[in-house]
Amino acid sequence: SDRIMLGPLVAAIDQGTSSTRFLVFNAKTAELLSHHQVEIKQNFPKEGWVEEDPKEILQSVYECMERTCEKLTQLNIDISNIKAIGVTNQRETTLVWDKETGEPLYNAIVWLDLRTQSTVERLINKTPGRNKNHLKHKTGLPISTYFSAVKLRWLMDNVTEVHEAVLSHRAMFGTVDSWLIWCLTGGKTGGVHCTDVTNASRTMLFNIHTMDWDPELCKYFDIPMEILPKVRSSSEIYGLMKICSSLKSGALTGVPISGCLGDQSAALVGQMCFQDGQAKNTYGTGCFLLRNTGAKPVMSDHGLLTTVAYKLGRDKPACYALEGSVAIAGAVVRWLKDNLGIVQSSTEIEKLAAMVGTSYGCYFVPAFSGLYAPYWEPSARGIICGLTQFTNRSHLAFAALEAVCFQTREILDAMNQDSGIPLNQLQVDGGMTSNKLLMQLQADILCIPVVKPSMPETTALGAAMAAGAAEGVSVWSLKPEDLTAVTSEKFEPQINPEESEYRYARWKKAVQKAMNWET
Ligand code: ADP
Repeated sequence: SDRIMLGPLVAAIDQGTSSTRFLVFNAKTAELLSHHQVEIKQNFPKEGWVEEDPKEILQSVYECMERTCEKLTQLNIDISNIKAIGVTNQRETTLVWDKETGEPLYNAIVWLDLRTQSTVERLINKTPGRNKNHLKHKTGLPISTYFSAVKLRWLMDNVTEVHEAVLSHRAMFGTVDSWLIWCLTGGKTGGVHCTDVTNASRTMLFNIHTMDWDPELCKYFDIPMEILPKVRSSSEIYGLMKICSSLKSGALTGVPISGCLGDQSAALVGQMCFQDGQAKNTYGTGCFLLRNTGAKPVMSDHGLLTTVAYKLGRDKPACYALEGSVAIAGAVVRWLKDNLGIVQSSTEIEKLAAMVGTSYGCYFVPAFSGLYAPYWEPSARGIICGLTQFTNRSHLAFAALEAVCFQTREILDAMNQDSGIPLNQLQVDGGMTSNKLLMQLQADILCIPVVKPSMPETTALGAAMAAGAAEGVSVWSLKPEDLTAVTSEKFEPQINPEESEYRYARWKKAVQKAMNWET
């Protein structure tokens, strides 16, 4: 049968906290042609611990590639049109593997994991004035359980295999991007050990001004620099896909891997937020609001992070962003499903919450992993308050969705205070944005319109754009005049601002209880 002629295609691996996706886009039109998604198992071996299996993560990538290629073939689309592959990933999640055997030496410690809480408290107590922002001038980050360096320190201190591999120069550290690129480019037989500047900027070992690993920071955490990946830009050829026994088709062999961005950076690119002042909020496992601040890193006075947004080419300038990170967003829905069983699927929560349309005075602060921005309080814990005899599971569902909106309001307020120029609408994306009730509630609580692109896979799109634009690939133009305008759906605020302020004030009281629940 006739093959459809489409011109160059670009693929993206989107390895998120809750699932892996492989997606193929048309480089000329940004149209999504085919994709496949596989859920990732999360392990909670102890209270506060969150792990994932590195081999399951890798296997899920192969499975998604295989299935997507099959779907393309069924659509009569020639797989050899795929000219590049981009990688985007859950950030901060920490892995160590043995470069001689290619085997992971422990599970991946997921960004949400709290096992390093006491280490973090000890580190902060040692700083002058007990200042969690002691390393912020170099890293843009507070000392927190969130970032990779403390997780890596824990692995070196507590896992014999890791400790020994480091001593015998066999250990490789990486975030998920590094692990995948190393494996896909050949692993123990010549894999490329690298990361990009956006992922590096979340480790706490990276200096966001010099744009390189910082010897002083490495010394501070006592981490040998030889185990770190080489830092590259977000858009350049890192290596080529190697033949791999796990990929039946072998169809992607030889395709350059040429884009790499942490998921939140990729979403910023995929939402075309290339101008200073443009922002987006992504609702996945957590919730992340990033605002492009252009060529200069801006330090926050309101609990936001300063992070590298992207560097789209070796000789291109780096762009920075201010970021408000919320640990638990979609994860609260997953918790209601997996731990309480009040819904069978994440999508069901919309119907359940819509049955009541109010939390009836119930407030749910899902501080399961402490609180991130703007509080950075690792000892905070989740709380549900305002219950009465009348409260039922629908109210609880509504309160959970409202919590996501209130947390976004807190980071948006911080963002507006830091920049002095309030956002007049919010661009959104991520798995949760298919929930229309949530989107309307968000517009109501922010009192500004919420704008959602009709193509929801903006994270993958950003990674594909970076890969397709890389020197030596050059099938995707990032010139402003060549970017396709995104069509979108808009949610306008519908309740009056006083009502919104009242509920937000109550939420803030609940947060105070979550922060001090032990005292
Ligand atoms: P990640 O990139 O962190 O893996 P995704 O962007 O894939 O996350 O979004 C998945 C998260 O969104 C899950 O935590 C899931 O519970 C939640 N989610 C998905 N669909 C809905 C929905 N319709 N309503 C509420 N939450 C949802």
